[in-house]
Amino acid sequence: MEEREVKVLRILVQKFGGTSVADENGRNHVVNKVQKALEKGFRIVVVVSAMGRRGAPYATDTLIDLARKIYPSIDPRDLDLLMSCGETISAIITTCALQSLGIDSVAFTGAGAGIITDANYNNARIREIHPEALRKALEQGKVAVVAGFQGVTDEGNITTLGRGGSDTTAVALGVALRAEEVEIYTDVDGIMTADPRFVPGAKPLETMTYAEVCEMAHLGAKVVHPRAVEIGMEGRVPIRIRSTFSELPGTLITDGQFFGVVEIHGDNVVTGLAHISDVAQIKITSEDDLNQTGKALEVFRALADAEISVDMIQVCPHGISCIVEESYIKRVREALRFMALEIAIVPGLAKVSAVGAGMRGIPGVMARVVQALNKEKIALHQTTDSHTNISCLVLREEMAKALQALHDEFLLADYELDN
Ligand code: ADP
Ligand code: MG
Repeated sequence: MEEREVKVLRILVQKFGGTSVADENGRNHVVNKVQKALEKGFRIVVVVSAMGRRGAPYATDTLIDLARKIYPSIDPRDLDLLMSCGETISAIITTCALQSLGIDSVAFTGAGAGIITDANYNNARIREIHPEALRKALEQGKVAVVAGFQGVTDEGNITTLGRGGSDTTAVALGVALRAEEVEIYTDVDGIMTADPRFVPGAKPLETMTYAEVCEMAHLGAKVVHPRAVEIGMEGRVPIRIRSTFSELPGTLITDGQFFGVVEIHGDNVVTGLAHISDVAQIKITSEDDLNQTGKALEVFRALADAEISVDMIQVCPHGISCIVEESYIKRVREALRFMALEIAIVPGLAKVSAVGAGMRGIPGVMARVVQALNKEKIALHQTTDSHTNISCLVLREEMAKALQALHDEFLLADYELDN
């Protein structure tokens, strides 16, 4: 009887962000990371973002500007075809860099890697993955370099996955290929207790649960895309966020219980801080009871019909307040223009959030937040909270100060890596 050899490959997905593949120096680090993982016996899928940030010739935002500044009404399908070029170029150049050092590798587009999406151009969702071509390359001992952020519809049209979409590509491929881990390489040492651009003393967190990272990401900590984390959670693939430019272990994201990880962060109440820096507050007031007159419902219907997503919603008998992305102010005015209500829109605000599974059921967390902000004379425009987060609306120019005050209050700089 003929025996069929079943190869069990140890697969690792390594995703490199825009700054990692921007130039030759970055690519040298990338090649080094791949080389080291190969030496450990892994088969490697590399997923790359476009090279550099806005202004760099093949960065995604540069390509968007190229079309939109002159032809603002470009068709979404055509825009996707254009935007996908940045990652395609990046995959080819990364493959060249690997090959130049004798590493056998082959470049794939998203379509070539079998990533099938819906036809929601500019923000498509991955529907299924046919990883056979990648698997074959890996079995042949090749490094497969895949263009992130893109897929293809059943009809063969190229789509893109929205901001941060390369993270999603990497994790989805990790699940499809049953990778041991998905490594997301970026320009910071992991998920930090706050964005290091605003809190210089922020520390990398050693481990986090999928749920905590999703919450941080939804509240603005865009170091990894929340969709990617959700896919990792469903597929039970560990994700590690780490730096291309250092040897530090980064942040391991798992289902804490499953992997037996229990961790104490800082003083055990708040894990980290997140922020969204460009929001506006809508304040609606009325002499009459807004619920009885049906006005409250009318307002939310009108906003929903205009596809304006609202957050931090508070409804009282004589007032409604909520926040929207600042860029939506014109649309909000338009949507509410025929309503006989007093409407004030306050731009220039930021939403600062403290996140932590540890605050569940702990009294006094809000008091500490308010006290920390009061001490710095930071005006609080509104707050909301859940079991695992407290969010505060502050003036944008006071955002960094607010982040620092909360970071100090919850002793996040004292968080030490296990050693
Ligand atoms: P990439 O191009 O590699 O995908 P991103 O810009 O998407 O990189 O994500 C990395 C950036 O995320 C960092 O440079 C940092 O400024 C920002 N960031 C925001 N919040 C955090 C946080 N809590 N921890 C780490 N980085 C954060
Ligand atoms: Mg990113």
